[in-house]
Amino acid sequence: MEFKELANLCERLEVTTKRNLMTDMVADFLRRLDEREVEPAVSMLLGRPFPRWDPRTLDISWATLSMIIQRLTGATWKDFSEAFRNTGDMGASAKIIFERSRIGRQATLLERPLTILEVRSILEAISEASGQGSREKKERLIRSLLSRASPVEVKYLVKIMIGEMRMGLQEGLMEVAVSKAFSVPLKKVQLASMLKGDVAEVAALCKKEGLKGISNLSFTLFRPIKPMLAQMAESPMEALKEHGGRTAFEYKLDGARIQIHKLGDKIRIFSRRLTDVTKSLPDIIDFIRREVRPENAIMEGEVIAIGKNGNPLPFQHLMRRFRRVYEIEKVSEEVPVKLYLFDILYMDGKSLIETPYVDRRRILEEAAGEIPLTKQIITDDAAEAKRFLENAVDGGHEGLMAKRLNSPYTPGIRGKHWLKIKKTLEPLDLVIVAAEYGTGRRHRWLSDYYLAARDEITGEFLTLGKTFKGLTDQEIEEMTRRLKEIAIEERGHLVLVKPKIVVEVAYNEIQKSPKYKSGMALRFARITRIRDDKSPDEADTIQRVRQIYEKQFARKAKFQET
Ligand code: AMP
Repeated sequence: MEFKELANLCERLEVTTKRNLMTDMVADFLRRLDEREVEPAVSMLLGRPFPRWDPRTLDISWATLSMIIQRLTGATWKDFSEAFRNTGDMGASAKIIFERSRIGRQATLLERPLTILEVRSILEAISEASGQGSREKKERLIRSLLSRASPVEVKYLVKIMIGEMRMGLQEGLMEVAVSKAFSVPLKKVQLASMLKGDVAEVAALCKKEGLKGISNLSFTLFRPIKPMLAQMAESPMEALKEHGGRTAFEYKLDGARIQIHKLGDKIRIFSRRLTDVTKSLPDIIDFIRREVRPENAIMEGEVIAIGKNGNPLPFQHLMRRFRRVYEIEKVSEEVPVKLYLFDILYMDGKSLIETPYVDRRRILEEAAGEIPLTKQIITDDAAEAKRFLENAVDGGHEGLMAKRLNSPYTPGIRGKHWLKIKKTLEPLDLVIVAAEYGTGRRHRWLSDYYLAARDEITGEFLTLGKTFKGLTDQEIEEMTRRLKEIAIEERGHLVLVKPKIVVEVAYNEIQKSPKYKSGMALRFARITRIRDDKSPDEADTIQRVRQIYEKQFARKAKFQET
């Protein structure tokens, strides 16, 4: 099939918001593909040059691409930035530039049309270009690819090369389309997609053999599995009730979730978002290699950052470890981390996801060697559970996870088998100092609020964060009216207002942040009440917020001593 058809489909998808219609269009397209074209087409529709777990990469920056496009079309930087300002999208800007140029108008007349398989093989050649002169080779290949493409094709080639499709066609919808296209039950497609970790490969299997093609799949090591997620519960009592009177409680640690894949000495670690973070955690890899008993396994755990004197640090410090690609060793000395394991999904060649939680935990205990597991109790006593929660919070942790004793591991699903119970910090009363118009349905309402605390010394209101969470539509409409009455200045989307309205704000943590003059920012702020009973000078002060910030550390330091 010609690549033009894929590009045209993308154009239609971009202007469609109805999910049903989108999946029908994609299904119809998939049906018309040849067997060999299915995986490349599905990967490309999801903005990937290759299947999801293919280690090949293109390594093309936007700077290189735009330089090639400039040379091909004679456009300038100014043309580009103007096109980008108007569209906000690299692919769409490239399309505009091509439409205006002579080459863009001629391309399709002069050349043989590009096919989907040809595009894939050119992308392969780009990724394989290595060694001396590889840069020139890459550029030559890209130039010849783009010079054969029409402006619409250029738009999507650029998007695929830089990995940004942005047309609302997520994996979930692609699974629906695959199910429709090849008449395979959606549940089976989802299961296969979870096991393979790539819907494009599943689509190809379905095209080839229908349901039979995906019937006997198992996990593949080094392909991460979507993590099981938790719903919120108000209290340990609620969790006990939900889980039939008796359940397991574990400390909920405030770090980063990791999924560990091990085959002999080969170990890789994936983040919650399934990216490979192995390089960021050399110390953890060594520890796992030394301690984990089974030859092959997939395990899950949480890593938390530890300060110089051994006390846990807030989440943001840990993120430094994951962001740094260079100087890893230096950063691992600066930000040591500690691993706690909490689940095992695969061992000795067998999937354990159907095995009940209590049994998995027992298996994990034996497999983990000296690696600690998250602290756990199994109880039917609400008072004991409440004490366990207090201890967790006193120890500097986020709260508890309640896990149903006989529950399987359900990848990618946010169900009630796992419940998270958090003890939120005391809410703050803050003042709205500015607001922004929302997007989509809320575009006519001021629905994003800047929240500030008063500086006792200068009287100035200092911003601590922004939120669009917590108010109902009706409250937002009313708030918009009130804010407009006290507006001081409009700057595009932003409206500055007199500091008059006080709201109660819940949040999970206070972070240090250079973003605001206050030097601090609230993590996960949400409005819990409008405090019309309070005047702005009764609102919380920046001094008090600083105190709470310091207390967070004290709490975490205490954890280290116990
Ligand atoms: P949340 O991110 O608030 O939805 O909470 C779920 C997250 O808590 C998981 O993705 C893990 O990163 C983290 N977590 C911390 N401790 C545990 C635990 N004992 N069991 C499972 N998840 C945990």
